Amino acid sequence: MPLYAKAFAKINLFLDVTGKREDGYHELDSVFQSVSLCDEITLSLTGGGINVVCNNSELSGEDNIVYEACKLFFSAVGYKGGADIIIKKNIPVAAGMAGGSADAAATLYLLNIALCANKSAEELSEMALKLGADVPFCLVGGTARVQGIGEKIEPTHTPLMHYVLLKEKQKQSTGKMFAQIDSAKYVTKQSIEEMLCGIKTANLSLVSKNLFNAFAFCWPFDEMTNAFKGYAHKGVFLSGSGPTVCALFESGAEAEKCALELKSKGFNAFYAHSTDCGVKTV
Ligand code: ATP
Repeated sequence: MPLYAKAFAKINLFLDVTGKREDGYHELDSVFQSVSLCDEITLSLTGGGINVVCNNSELSGEDNIVYEACKLFFSAVGYKGGADIIIKKNIPVAAGMAGGSADAAATLYLLNIALCANKSAEELSEMALKLGADVPFCLVGGTARVQGIGEKIEPTHTPLMHYVLLKEKQKQSTGKMFAQIDSAKYVTKQSIEEMLCGIKTANLSLVSKNLFNAFAFCWPFDEMTNAFKGYAHKGVFLSGSGPTVCALFESGAEAEKCALELKSKGFNAFYAHSTDCGVKTV
């Protein structure tokens, strides 16, 4: 019987780059939040081989991070069989929404169930970090302060929040963005502590006042916010290192209307709301 999971995208309500380790990895201080936009993963165990098929055919096969996730999990538990994985991609690729990381997290989660492996949350998180900095958060999901290179995760309350996610067409490589941020000089008046307080008390004004992304200094960000002019949003911000721009709304109806209208104008726009988990089996 195949297993099925939703793998939720994430956005960053706050993202500061706080340092660079000797091994080249960047350290972050960030607020991650899972949102309802999701990929769908179907997994079946087989006699041998790992077969990854995606509705976006460029992502089928061995280069998919899900293939790596399977290899890692199989070797950790000494499993000699195989798996067929079908991915239905709804999360835009290379968008700063951790689509690949979400798929990898869902795969680890499903394999733990399918193989009755009983790996603890900590063991899964260690495996996840080997696959990528965003994968440990995607396993937990909801809303969390994330620090280090992605391994320090402090979950917090997830209030219902509404968004329009707008994926710009242009994309700079994540490597280039990090190189730019190394030399960028900025002072932030926004505070992650205040943001977390706003989240805990579901005070959207406090959240919106503290929306921050250091990578906004590397983008023509003001131009990208123009699409949201005229809508009653509480703030516009960048997710990850871009190119997705998000608008926060108090009203779900206003957010849905905005997403529909932007879509009809040819924008790659999605309505999404916050979710309290990163992977959901049904
Ligand atoms: P992050 O926010 O974690 O930095 P992202 O959202 O910017 O990631 P992804 O959508 O995860 O980026 O894609 C990054 C690259 O990973 C793509 O160029 C793609 O070729 C590759 N990739 C491998 N597997 C997947 C997958 N399952 N889904 C999406 N991309 C994948």
